[in-house]
Amino acid sequence: MLINSLITLASIIGMEIFAWVFHKYYMHGPGWTWHESHHVQTHGPFEKNDLYAVGFSVIAAGLFIAGSLWLPALWYVALGFTIYGILYGFVHDGLVHQRWPFHIQAKRGYLLRLVHAHRLHHHTTTKDGAVSFGFLYAEKPDRLKARLKTCKIAEDI
Ligand SMILES: [Zn+2]
Ligand SMILES: [Zn+2]
Repeated sequence: MLINSLITLASIIGMEIFAWVFHKYYMHGPGWTWHESHHVQTHGPFEKNDLYAVGFSVIAAGLFIAGSLWLPALWYVALGFTIYGILYGFVHDGLVHQRWPFHIQAKRGYLLRLVHAHRLHHHTTTKDGAVSFGFLYAEKPDRLKARLKTCKIAEDI
């Protein structure tokens, strides 16, 4: 039980680290063709960027199946993936982008910091120069703002 809880927790933390790396180096790199839709104004309820979420859901489903059939530890990795997905959906699609049918607002504390940090991420509509690539962990908005300014100055030179 304890081991399984630790696997699930490690999977959640691992997913945030993976999401940071994947977002910074793949989505803002070769995967920009899908992710761009999320950084520019789009119309309609869906964006091409949502295909990433679909892809990760398929991987999670595959892990659940593999965990049930062969290696139970994988089932707990999949559980961590899924919990991460729910937390991501709550923070990113709910609190930040208000894509849910009902509206919830972060008013203070750490959740508000996450919202500010991700809004700063959206200050750029291009592949390069963005800050704050994580979703459940974010630096203080002041530090991100300072970095964003430095990037913009560097771009202007
Ligand atoms: Zn991005
Ligand atoms: Zn976003």
